[in-house]
Amino acid sequence: MKFISTRAGGSSVSFKDAVLSCLPPDGGLYIPGSAVDLRQFFLYMDESTTYPELVATVAPPLLEGEFNPFSAARVAESAFAFEPVVKRLDENLSLLELTNGPTGVFKDFGIAFLAAVMEELLKKSGRAMTLTASTGDTGSSVAHGFAGRNGITSVIIYPRGPIRGLDAASFVQNGGNILPIRIDGTFDDCQRLIREAFGDRPFAARYGLTSANTINVGRLLPQVFYFLFAFLKLKRSLRGDLLFSVPSGNFGNLLAGLYAWKFGLPVRGFIAAMNANDAVGDYLRGKAFAPRDPVQTVSSAMDVGNPSNFERLSAFYRDAPAVMRHMVLPESVDDAATTAAMERAWRKHGVLLDPHGAVGFAAAERAIEGGFEYGHVVVLSTGHPAKRAWSTERAIGAPCPIPEHLASLGREVDPVASIPARIDALEAAIAGAC
Ligand SMILES: *Cc1c(COP(=O)(O)O)cnc(C)c1O
Repeated sequence: MKFISTRAGGSSVSFKDAVLSCLPPDGGLYIPGSAVDLRQFFLYMDESTTYPELVATVAPPLLEGEFNPFSAARVAESAFAFEPVVKRLDENLSLLELTNGPTGVFKDFGIAFLAAVMEELLKKSGRAMTLTASTGDTGSSVAHGFAGRNGITSVIIYPRGPIRGLDAASFVQNGGNILPIRIDGTFDDCQRLIREAFGDRPFAARYGLTSANTINVGRLLPQVFYFLFAFLKLKRSLRGDLLFSVPSGNFGNLLAGLYAWKFGLPVRGFIAAMNANDAVGDYLRGKAFAPRDPVQTVSSAMDVGNPSNFERLSAFYRDAPAVMRHMVLPESVDDAATTAAMERAWRKHGVLLDPHGAVGFAAAERAIEGGFEYGHVVVLSTGHPAKRAWSTERAIGAPCPIPEHLASLGREVDPVASIPARIDALEAAIAGAC
């Protein structure tokens, strides 16, 4: 499969070029250029298939010609020392837990694969640098996924404020490859700096600059694997249609589900589970999309008014908008309903959810009550409850255990450099450290 730009007219590129150059020259985003049929590769697998086995089996046909089975197995083994967990709650409901990675968020899955695949792609030649903006969670996941990867330096830029979730032993000045830089500005300033850095072609070429945010299709594509994995774990016991309920902010996860469907996953549809930031809901119902200012909610990683993946989503809808209206069902869950869902999940099923997973759970319950009682809904649990233990504890009225590897993410660290929000200062900080 080749990759094309969301904007018409560009040529198609290999996976390697899409991953290492990140952005097409026309200003769009890379998306899969065709629909590879993966059914013959995953339909015969079953619940005994491990996650690395699944990834190593479907990656070669998906990225046809670019990975042989040996290099795919190497990437899968080196990326995934953790796997998703599928928990069947009752006849109608399961949980796909994506919280077992090093930092407890589903983003660990896409980032771990991107880091391992980049190391493999660079094996013969070259170096690369990832540049990522983060307020916390993504930076922590990037620092864990990329630490120690040969040929790659990972620059993470943060807005004003404390920096947590990093291990100083992995920093460049201590012989590692992680370079955290604090910008004297806001998160928007960080994103503007990233756009400027990618726009500066000589600078980008000198360092082999690419991104570890979801604008990189090499982080989005591996999210397809866990939708297939959930199906393998459940298929023997499934009766009726299958739906996924996907807590959505920037819509990377939902898109990955749609790509999985395009590649042959037998799924009836997806619930786009949103908090009060539900501007995309109007679009999914057939109206024009109007971005809004984000509002604050308890599921803060989904407080997005103008999703960065909207351009990919609308490219997906361009071909068959009427089909898509039956495929993706929008649902909006407010804070009170989110907290109540955390309590119900605990009382009825004995599972702890964070507020993001609870948005997905509440939306799934509504679908089942609203006429989907003969089907099965899989809720994506996107964040570990221990990361927002206070809100889980308030909802369930009992303590939420915090595993040691997540407790240590709360520690503050000093960045390698603190600089003004200017591109020349960013270049100087990078040049000085590498
Ligand atoms: C990032 C994030 C989301 C939103 O995922 P998108 O792919 O941006 O829609 C949901 N839950 C948690 C815990 C997250 O960190």
